[in-house]
Amino acid sequence: MHDLATRLAHAGCPPDPRDRAATASPVFATTFLRDADGTYPGGHVYSRTSNPTRDLLEATLADLDGGAEAAAFGSGQAAVAAVLNALPVGSRVLLPNDVYHGVRALATGPMADRIAVRTVDMSDRGALRMALSDGPVALVWLETPSNPLCRVTDLAAAVEMAHAAGARVCVDATWTPPPLTRPLDFGADLVVHSLTKYLAGHSDVLGGAVVTREADADFAAVRHQQALAGGVLDPFSCWLTLRGLRTLDVRLERQCANAAAAAVFLAAHPAVTAVHYPGLATHAGHAVAVRQMRLHGATCFGGMLSFEVATEAEARRVAGATRVLAQATSLGGTESLIEHRRSVEPPASTTPPTLLRVSFGLESARDLIDDLVQALG
Ligand code: PLP
Repeated sequence: MHDLATRLAHAGCPPDPRDRAATASPVFATTFLRDADGTYPGGHVYSRTSNPTRDLLEATLADLDGGAEAAAFGSGQAAVAAVLNALPVGSRVLLPNDVYHGVRALATGPMADRIAVRTVDMSDRGALRMALSDGPVALVWLETPSNPLCRVTDLAAAVEMAHAAGARVCVDATWTPPPLTRPLDFGADLVVHSLTKYLAGHSDVLGGAVVTREADADFAAVRHQQALAGGVLDPFSCWLTLRGLRTLDVRLERQCANAAAAAVFLAAHPAVTAVHYPGLATHAGHAVAVRQMRLHGATCFGGMLSFEVATEAEARRVAGATRVLAQATSLGGTESLIEHRRSVEPPASTTPPTLLRVSFGLESARDLIDDLVQALG
């Protein structure tokens, strides 16, 4: 098999035997023809249950994560909901205490009568062990580095503990997509992605996906959610995501390099009181990150970083003062974004009000750092 970089460069480009088109075009048809005998020779019946462009994207995502199958959804949240809805009623779920706020809000809000949620500091093995020993757990949800505090979870250790306790593991890899971190390689059962971020990569697609290590009954329940609840990704968004995937690893290289350069700059700045970035040797999760975050063999610590300043007012001022970094939520696009995170999260947020979250894009590191210099003052 070719290297991942080669496979990505060709993602969504199967040779078309009819017209010899070098790249696949989206198939927009919602329904597919039967033969006279009633069979479906094209292999598709109706676009909610399967679509050729979605099939191509799902096969590419499964390959990228080293999984058996993938299911694409209309948003990252729809993918999260499919995983949680596929659990039997009454299941106990462990969530990280620092996690994308939408996952926490969904699991503890609309899902509260289906599942019982307990939050755990997943960067603390003892805390996870204790939570797992406190009654049967169906699912351990992980996110590493976590959003927005960049806490690092040791995936191999967490998976080993969860499996020993009979729990399955789902990793939200939105912040560190493959090839940066491939949670299935560390034994996880499922991976969730917001395709909206690095995978589609251009801040113009809303999508999500679930990738599974095994094509098993648990994943069949996720597929069931996809086909029956119907939150599928439309063909054009599938096609745009495939187009984005072709440059994924090249984009990630620049984004990680920009974040790493900014982390060093911010750590030395007198107005900055804390930098949360696992690439810094002083970060509590640095040693684990060195083991599990790699891009083409070299350590690479992601394109996301959070930092703190003295007061909330100062944080809000800095977010409004940048000129190259745009002040907006979201991440993983070609453009750098800065955000006062607490003010976009629900009132129950535990994010420090002094925290700014940055998604590094493809601009030059010098322009980004000059911008931070002038904004910090
Ligand atoms: N998971 C993480 C880590 C996210 O950051 C987000 C969105 O910001 C989601 C899931 C949800 O994805 P979407 O916005 O595509 O629904």
